[in-house]
Amino acid sequence: MILDALKRLFGGGMEPPGGISCEEAMARIQEFIDGELDPAEAGNVEEHFDVCTRCYPHLKLEEGFRKRVREALRQPTVPEDLREGVLEILEREEKGEPG
Ligand SMILES: [Zn+2]
Repeated sequence: MILDALKRLFGGGMEPPGGISCEEAMARIQEFIDGELDPAEAGNVEEHFDVCTRCYPHLKLEEGFRKRVREALRQPTVPEDLREGVLEILEREEKGEPG
């Protein structure tokens, strides 16, 4: 854990966190949250977000956004047709179907 803390302080040194670059980690946020990555790749991405102070906020932001959308949809004040429409879009997105 001390090593992780040091890595965080000094920005990871030579090796990119998790062995993947920030660009690769960012590109996999959606799949990572949806659990669509294979275990090895998910491990790398998780390690990257664990250590990388640049990418970590993006993961939290994305997770928080999805959570808030789902929570908002549970409110009885949301019109039924809007709720169903948004749920449909979310489900379609999670299945990876286009538009
Ligand atoms: Zn990063």
